[in-house]
Amino acid sequence: TEMLLEDLPGVGPATAEKLREAGFNTIEAVAVASPAELGATAEIGEATAAKIINAARQAADIGGFETGDMVFERRQHIGKIKTGCTEFDEMMGGGIESQSITEIYGEFGSGKTQVAHQLAVNVQLPEEQGGLEGSVIIIDTENTFRPDRIQQMVEGKANELGIELDYEEFLKNIHVARAFNSNHQILLVDSAMDLANELKDSGKPVRLMIVDSLTAHFRAEYIGRGTLADRQQKLNKHLHGLQRFANLNNSAVLVTNQVMSKPDAFFGDPTKPIGGHILGHTATFRLYIRKSKGDKRIVKLIDSPNLPEGEAVLSVTRDGIVD
Ligand code: ADP
Ligand code: MG
Repeated sequence: TEMLLEDLPGVGPATAEKLREAGFNTIEAVAVASPAELGATAEIGEATAAKIINAARQAADIGGFETGDMVFERRQHIGKIKTGCTEFDEMMGGGIESQSITEIYGEFGSGKTQVAHQLAVNVQLPEEQGGLEGSVIIIDTENTFRPDRIQQMVEGKANELGIELDYEEFLKNIHVARAFNSNHQILLVDSAMDLANELKDSGKPVRLMIVDSLTAHFRAEYIGRGTLADRQQKLNKHLHGLQRFANLNNSAVLVTNQVMSKPDAFFGDPTKPIGGHILGHTATFRLYIRKSKGDKRIVKLIDSPNLPEGEAVLSVTRDGIVD
């Protein structure tokens, strides 16, 4: 049976009512709140709020341990979002997986944002058409989200499937937030969790979270070796927040990461993605994308827990990502 807010130690009927009025409808929502936020909302002290949040975290199993059978049960529900390119899907064992972080890295203009836009369209389709019938949250750090690109891709998909699709409906299911710096970016994952809870029973639950770009703000803000460890720690925390989001919402998470063609004194080996091995251990699937002839792109699976390394060729066209 599901736990109620009243089951949390320190939460009586009056406090529970205040929390619900403020939109904290579930244990998960309380678990990801900040003590200051919760304290002000429920008119309780911050120390009490912190205790309630801790209890909610334990109850929601956030940041805690799961037993093997729990992991097994959760993983039964993994879904896959098709990319639009058959070879790419095959390389990924069917598509981009929910409950995982997929990192796509490559140079400027290699097509990372195009792949992100395409997945934001495809995830909304029903399963038989390669989607998960879900909504999308985009954390946009470089101001590169383009509604008109979504329109083109929806039109392309409608032509391909020979059906009518309304691009305005697709745009309504894409929730975009600009992140103005790395702290804001991390905080937006908490807001995303609230939004995902709101949409849970809407018929279009959040099934894809995109962070484009994951690393740009971190890169810009943490210049110089002195602050490198600090940067990695924050990035690590951010990625754990994203993984938690993926697990709790059965959502896919796609993050983009730019590599430089020119050596960069502060960030080491230019052929390695920013974030180094910390990102390497946290992202479940790592993809490297590079330009080829014309509109062709080569995407390479670098790292996966259960799939062989491989390469796929895709095209970026007006219609989106295609074979
Ligand atoms: P990044 O890896 O930096 O995110 P993008 O995903 O923004 O790169 O890729 C930009 C490239 O995508 C453009 O250079 C172009 O080749 C292609 N592209 C963007 N929009 C269109 C379009 N409407 N039609 C065809 N190709 C496009
Ligand atoms: Mg981009």
